[in-house]
Amino acid sequence: MSIHIHTLIFNDFGVNTYILEAENKDCIIVDAACHSTKEQAALSEIVASRKINPIFHISTHTHIDHVLGSAFVKNNFGTTWLIHADGTELLNQAPMFAGVFGLKLDEFQLPDRFVVDAEEIMLGNNTLKILYTPGHAHGSICIYCEAESFVITGDVLFCGSIGRTDLPGGDTETLLNSIAEKLLVLPNETKVYPGHGTTTTIGEEKRENPYLQIN
Ligand SMILES: [Zn+2]
Ligand SMILES: [Zn+2]
Repeated sequence: MSIHIHTLIFNDFGVNTYILEAENKDCIIVDAACHSTKEQAALSEIVASRKINPIFHISTHTHIDHVLGSAFVKNNFGTTWLIHADGTELLNQAPMFAGVFGLKLDEFQLPDRFVVDAEEIMLGNNTLKILYTPGHAHGSICIYCEAESFVITGDVLFCGSIGRTDLPGGDTETLLNSIAEKLLVLPNETKVYPGHGTTTTIGEEKRENPYLQIN
């Protein structure tokens, strides 16, 4: 593999934060969800011990649990923060949602740049493609690496489940369309790294996921 994926599980919601490390030591942090100082230290420890350079951090969507560490990552590593523009409204409500869940949001920041569907981002020599996959939240994206055969799915697709659609901006039909059009078309062997829980593959979810057996 020319991309090494580190997984860290952060905050009370058990969000998977992924660090994608390229051969040239550049890295991208997906869903900076570290919240406690211990979690922040765990993230910093990987960056320091692997001697890697965080270039970007990308949020698969802007639910509060997925952006809790964004300000920390930006302040500590000087990363450029990328989200899909449709997630802006939800992000603006992050301080309010933090209050609802009794979370302390030390600092509120805005993203640096918006990504769009089919946009390609370079990580070392590797191409990562943004897949726009709304339905769980406005502005949900997945991140696909064809050459390395993996996709990061945020809260769109899980091992044996799909994202909930009862939160503001959620819509079941939109979510199922996103999954069908953007994810199930990927090769069966594509490894799935979800926003919560264990990894799976596209083929396994096609066969086993009870939410995708409707037709
Ligand atoms: Zn979510
Ligand atoms: Zn989540």
